[in-house]
Amino acid sequence: MGERRCRYCKEIFQPSKFQPRQAVCSGAGCQRKRRTDYHREKIATDPEYREVCRDSPRKWRAANPGYWKRYREKRPETAEQNRRRQKLRDRKRRLCNLANNTSALDLKHSAAQVWLVGSGAAHLANNNSAPAQVWVIEALPPRPGSSA
Ligand SMILES: [Zn+2]
Repeated sequence: MGERRCRYCKEIFQPSKFQPRQAVCSGAGCQRKRRTDYHREKIATDPEYREVCRDSPRKWRAANPGYWKRYREKRPETAEQNRRRQKLRDRKRRLCNLANNTSALDLKHSAAQVWLVGSGAAHLANNNSAPAQVWVIEALPPRPGSSA
Protein backbone atom coordinates (compact mmCIF):
# COMPACT_ATOMS: atom_id res chain seq x y z
CA MET A 1 0.00 0.00 0.00
CA GLY A 2 1.33 3.39 -0.96
CA GLU A 3 1.96 6.40 1.17
CA ARG A 4 -0.50 9.27 1.23
CA ARG A 5 -0.45 12.96 2.06
CA CYS A 6 -2.74 13.99 4.94
CA ARG A 7 -5.57 16.29 3.84
CA TYR A 8 -5.04 18.51 6.91
CA CYS A 9 -1.38 18.61 7.99
CA LYS A 10 0.00 17.73 4.51
CA GLU A 11 2.41 15.20 6.06
CA ILE A 12 3.06 11.84 4.37
CA PHE A 13 1.51 8.87 6.22
CA GLN A 14 0.97 5.15 5.76
CA PRO A 15 -2.75 4.28 5.54
CA SER A 16 -3.99 1.57 7.90
CA LYS A 17 -4.40 -1.84 6.27
CA PHE A 18 -7.87 -1.88 7.84
CA GLN A 19 -8.76 1.52 6.30
CA PRO A 20 -7.51 1.36 2.70
CA ARG A 21 -9.29 4.62 1.79
CA GLN A 22 -7.83 6.53 4.76
CA ALA A 23 -7.18 10.13 3.68
CA VAL A 24 -6.20 11.65 7.03
CA CYS A 25 -3.17 10.75 9.16
CA SER A 26 -3.69 9.37 12.68
CA GLY A 27 -2.53 12.57 14.40
CA ALA A 28 -4.97 13.59 17.13
CA GLY A 29 -5.49 17.10 15.70
CA CYS A 30 -6.10 15.78 12.17
CA GLN A 31 -8.52 13.12 13.40
CA ARG A 32 -10.41 15.78 15.39
CA LYS A 33 -10.69 17.92 12.24
CA ARG A 34 -11.85 14.90 10.24
CA ARG A 35 -14.61 14.14 12.77
CA THR A 36 -15.65 17.81 12.94
CA ASP A 37 -15.83 18.06 9.15
CA TYR A 38 -17.82 14.81 8.97
CA HIS A 39 -20.23 16.08 11.63
CA ARG A 40 -20.70 19.44 9.82
CA GLU A 41 -21.21 17.75 6.47
CA LYS A 42 -23.64 15.24 7.96
CA ILE A 43 -25.66 17.97 9.71
CA ALA A 44 -25.84 19.92 6.45
CA THR A 45 -26.97 16.96 4.33
CA ASP A 46 -28.83 14.51 6.61
CA PRO A 47 -32.09 15.86 8.10
CA GLU A 48 -32.48 12.88 10.46
CA TYR A 49 -28.95 13.24 11.84
CA ARG A 50 -29.52 17.00 12.24
CA GLU A 51 -32.73 16.34 14.19
CA VAL A 52 -31.00 13.83 16.51
CA CYS A 53 -28.17 16.31 17.14
CA ARG A 54 -30.67 19.04 17.89
CA ASP A 55 -32.74 16.85 20.24
CA SER A 56 -29.83 15.34 22.14
CA PRO A 57 -28.94 18.36 24.34
CA ARG A 58 -32.65 19.11 24.79
CA LYS A 59 -33.23 15.61 26.19
CA TRP A 60 -30.16 15.87 28.38
CA ARG A 61 -31.34 19.20 29.85
CA ALA A 62 -34.79 17.73 30.50
CA ALA A 63 -33.18 14.79 32.35
CA ASN A 64 -30.83 17.09 34.33
CA PRO A 65 -32.88 20.11 35.39
CA GLY A 66 -30.92 22.86 37.17
CA TYR A 67 -27.53 21.47 36.16
CA TRP A 68 -26.24 24.69 34.58
CA LYS A 69 -27.59 26.83 37.40
CA ARG A 70 -25.70 24.70 39.94
CA TYR A 71 -22.63 24.66 37.68
CA ARG A 72 -22.56 28.47 37.59
CA GLU A 73 -23.14 28.74 41.35
CA LYS A 74 -20.22 26.39 42.04
CA ARG A 75 -17.88 28.20 39.66
CA PRO A 76 -18.58 31.95 39.80
CA GLU A 77 -15.25 32.87 38.12
CA THR A 78 -15.95 30.58 35.19
CA ALA A 79 -19.48 31.93 34.87
CA GLU A 80 -18.16 35.50 34.87
CA GLN A 81 -15.53 34.61 32.27
CA ASN A 82 -18.22 32.99 30.11
CA ARG A 83 -20.37 36.11 30.41
CA ARG A 84 -17.45 38.34 29.32
CA ARG A 85 -16.61 36.06 26.39
CA GLN A 86 -20.26 35.86 25.33
CA LYS A 87 -20.46 39.66 25.36
CA LEU A 88 -17.40 39.77 23.09
CA ARG A 89 -18.91 37.18 20.75
CA ASP A 90 -22.19 39.12 20.67
CA ARG A 91 -20.33 42.34 19.92
CA LYS A 92 -18.30 40.66 17.19
CA ARG A 93 -21.47 39.21 15.61
CA ARG A 94 -23.14 42.63 15.66
CA LEU A 95 -20.07 44.21 14.07
CA CYS A 96 -19.90 41.48 11.42
CA ASN A 97 -23.57 41.98 10.63
CA LEU A 98 -22.91 45.69 10.42
CA ALA A 99 -19.95 45.09 8.11
CA ASN A 100 -22.00 42.74 5.92
CA ASN A 101 -24.71 45.35 5.54
CA THR A 102 -22.40 48.16 4.53
CA SER A 103 -19.53 48.75 2.18
CA ALA A 104 -16.95 48.10 4.93
CA LEU A 105 -13.96 45.97 3.95
CA ASP A 106 -12.89 43.09 6.16
CA LEU A 107 -9.20 43.56 6.89
CA LYS A 108 -8.55 40.05 8.19
CA HIS A 109 -4.83 40.24 7.60
CA SER A 110 -4.10 43.81 8.45
CA ALA A 111 -0.48 44.23 9.56
CA ALA A 112 -1.40 47.09 11.86
CA GLN A 113 0.63 47.69 15.02
CA VAL A 114 -0.53 49.51 18.10
CA TRP A 115 1.97 51.59 20.08
CA LEU A 116 1.31 52.66 23.62
CA VAL A 117 2.98 55.95 24.51
CA GLY A 118 2.95 58.28 27.50
CA SER A 119 3.72 57.85 31.17
CA GLY A 120 1.39 54.85 31.63
CA ALA A 121 3.39 52.81 29.12
CA ALA A 122 6.39 52.77 31.50
CA HIS A 123 4.43 50.53 33.88
CA LEU A 124 3.92 47.79 31.30
CA ALA A 125 5.82 44.64 32.19
CA ASN A 126 8.74 43.60 29.95
CA ASN A 127 7.65 45.69 26.96
CA ASN A 128 5.92 42.63 25.54
CA SER A 129 3.77 43.08 22.49
CA ALA A 130 0.13 42.79 23.38
CA PRO A 131 -2.36 40.89 21.20
CA ALA A 132 -5.35 43.07 20.46
CA GLN A 133 -8.37 43.33 18.23
CA VAL A 134 -8.95 46.65 16.58
CA TRP A 135 -12.26 47.43 14.96
CA VAL A 136 -12.20 50.39 12.63
CA ILE A 137 -15.61 51.77 11.96
CA GLU A 138 -16.27 54.79 9.86
CA ALA A 139 -19.56 56.52 10.42
CA LEU A 140 -21.65 57.09 7.33
CA PRO A 141 -22.29 60.71 6.39
CA PRO A 142 -25.82 61.82 7.21
CA ARG A 143 -28.28 61.23 4.39
CA PRO A 144 -29.39 64.31 2.52
CA GLY A 145 -32.69 65.47 3.92
CA SER A 146 -32.27 63.81 7.34
CA SER A 147 -32.53 66.12 10.32
CA ALA A 148 -29.47 64.65 12.14
ZN1 LIG B 1 -2.45 14.98 9.45
